[in-house]
Amino acid sequence: MAQERILIVEDEPNILELVAYNLEKEGWSVLKAANGNQGWELIQNEHPDLVLLDLMLPGMDGMEVCRRTRENAATRGIPIIMLTAKSEEVDRVMGLEIGADDYVTKPFSPRELVARIRAVLRRVERLPGDEAKEVFELGPIRIDMRQHKVTVNGKPVELTPKEFDLLHLLVSHPGRAFSREFLLEHLWGYEFFGDTRTVDVHVRRLRQKIEEDPANPHWLETVRGVGYRMLEEGE
Ligand code: CA
Repeated sequence: MAQERILIVEDEPNILELVAYNLEKEGWSVLKAANGNQGWELIQNEHPDLVLLDLMLPGMDGMEVCRRTRENAATRGIPIIMLTAKSEEVDRVMGLEIGADDYVTKPFSPRELVARIRAVLRRVERLPGDEAKEVFELGPIRIDMRQHKVTVNGKPVELTPKEFDLLHLLVSHPGRAFSREFLLEHLWGYEFFGDTRTVDVHVRRLRQKIEEDPANPHWLETVRGVGYRMLEEGE
């Protein structure tokens, strides 16, 4: 198996070296950037398998690096774990809203960090970006990408193209919460945030088609103050 490459973007040299040491010990190959601009350059040029991204960086901050990574079609699928200082509660939530896959709060133990990285890499493995992947299944929901068909409990369900894209995004990232803003931008491509109620309307229609009891959805969950997510199997 090819060695996975992890980019660390961190301006504190001690943390950078400590993290690099621990990741190399786990058998990963490590790329390092000491500021946001350098990090963004490496993301584009090297396409790492995962990025550990410090939030507070000189120059371009972690938030901006994350935003650019998600906006760029070539880098969109690269998983990002944000590194945040303890007091940065607000930024923490923001990190998820701009599409980070996870965050780790400083100070963190190398063991915890390694566990998070493994979890994210595992999740990504069974995901798109994988254009090759043709069938997604979650509970009773089955999406056939090749035929562009959805079934629930084996029964075909008619979806509009936007409903299909929304379902595909959620089912292919089970457990992950997406903000309304992210969904709007990602699925509708609004440069500037439009009316996020558009997302709510589509979620409501989608629930009517895939949920047994749309008023008490079992799979497509509302995450208060954030947006929506699909439950993981067995959750
Ligand atoms: Ca920093």
